Amino acid sequence: MRMASDGTLHMDTVLKQALGNAGTPAPAGPPGFAFDNTYARDLEGLYVPWKPAGSPAPRLLELNADLADELGLDARTLAGPNGLAVFAGNAVPEGAQPLAQAYAGHQFGGFSPQLGDGRALLLGEVIDRRGRRRDLALKGSGRTPFSRGGDGLAAVGPVLREYLMGEAMHALGVPTTRALAAVATGDSVRRETPLPGAILTRVAASHLRVGTFEFFAARSDAALLRRLADYAIARHDPELRAAPERSLRLLQAVVERQARLVAQWMGFGFIHGVMNTDNMTLSGETIDYGPCAFVEHYDPAAVFSSIDEQGRYAFGNQPRIAQWNLARLAESLLPLIEAEGSGSAAVEQATEVVEGFADRFQAHWLASLRAKLGLSASAETTDQALGDDYLELLRQHRIDFTLGFRRLIDTAEGDLEPLRALFPDSVPALDAWLQRWLARAAADPAGLPERTAAMRRANPIYLPRHHRVEAALSEAAEHGELGPFRALLAIVRRPFDERADDAAFAEPAPAAQTACYRTYCGT
Ligand code: AMP
Ligand code: MG
Repeated sequence: MRMASDGTLHMDTVLKQALGNAGTPAPAGPPGFAFDNTYARDLEGLYVPWKPAGSPAPRLLELNADLADELGLDARTLAGPNGLAVFAGNAVPEGAQPLAQAYAGHQFGGFSPQLGDGRALLLGEVIDRRGRRRDLALKGSGRTPFSRGGDGLAAVGPVLREYLMGEAMHALGVPTTRALAAVATGDSVRRETPLPGAILTRVAASHLRVGTFEFFAARSDAALLRRLADYAIARHDPELRAAPERSLRLLQAVVERQARLVAQWMGFGFIHGVMNTDNMTLSGETIDYGPCAFVEHYDPAAVFSSIDEQGRYAFGNQPRIAQWNLARLAESLLPLIEAEGSGSAAVEQATEVVEGFADRFQAHWLASLRAKLGLSASAETTDQALGDDYLELLRQHRIDFTLGFRRLIDTAEGDLEPLRALFPDSVPALDAWLQRWLARAAADPAGLPERTAAMRRANPIYLPRHHRVEAALSEAAEHGELGPFRALLAIVRRPFDERADDAAFAEPAPAAQTACYRTYCGT
């Protein structure tokens, strides 16, 4: 591994430092993880073995029993002292090989050649009940050689936010990393004010990021880049293993997954908030929930993140940014694409694949809009305009995005009142649009019961609305009271079936709160 010309940390130095740190901690007894660690085994040179700092007085905040079961783990054991010791970083379970991954990243457009896991550790990989390989990682587990000026820690609020948002997205059917557990460490974390510290245990299809490729591309390390690409292919696109232009095909597969993912985000009004290339996965899972939120009134210009002053990651910009990030992946893969025989055509081919994102996104976005409007896929060419016109109505009248679609179900069933109540008194353009939509729906092969059932599965009624999230997190962080968090978690885990008892959770935030809403990153 070469020293980067800008003097960033030398990987060999990092590896040497690591040897002093990574002793062999005592095994933690039997939480029963059957680790099989391909990243540690196959990708030496792409990480630093490291161990968690540990927690002085750990306390389990939440354990994801469903996910534990999916992973073939016993939730009761995990909730006991041996599980807690692992989640708190006080014990490294048998078979784990904790390590900090190296990666780079374009942050707000500027390149940082070295980021890496500054406060996270990959513990290892397990195979879940369905045969899928899943990463198990800690976040907030202490400093690593990649911490730069940071303390390596996380606070209770952001850890619970990531837990909640991941579960909400999973329930919506959006690919996402998920939390297996959240623990309070008993330590305090110094931010603007001292905050209670926490560690999240995260499960992911992998933690390979666009930035992982950028790290080795920036160092012109073709051998490591090759290993990394082959690893990504083996893990996420094994059918490409023997393909003649496998790196180009890998790029294409990531383009497809990201096009689908971002279309899903747009369909639920999700704003990621920090779409830096280090926060974009090869797997197509949503990762790194920081200053994220769901839009309330529909507005493509909506920005919630306090650090996104230019609106780079505004709601409506997300498809464009995803494509921009994929261009960075394409650049990183270029030496491999060239070597695989495309020669001088490599740049053109890679460009074509990245440009293809626009069509792929458009296709997924149209499918999502059709599902939301209760329309079957068809050759009908006016459906996109029908959807766009409705979005424009929502935007003009500042209508709640989630309810604006959900209340179309009542309209389809003949009760116009719930939808009308969202709009001002007389909106002729709404009436005209409803006529067009109802006419199109009537011509659809699906009958009414089928249509409304499908709309109920495409248009959630409960999302983690930001005023609810804030209230739940501050109760947890400031008063150690987890009741509101758990209540909200239970609600967002069943986003589609309307329940009279939970009506208040479907309501938008009071306008004053929406206007000044901000989430803070990296805390
Ligand atoms: P994020 O904004 O969480 O996606 O993180 C961006 C980069 O900053 C990653 O390399 C993180 O590991 C690093 N980072 C964020 N917060 C901390 C922290 N408190 N201590 C050390 N590194 C951090
Ligand atoms: Mg990140």
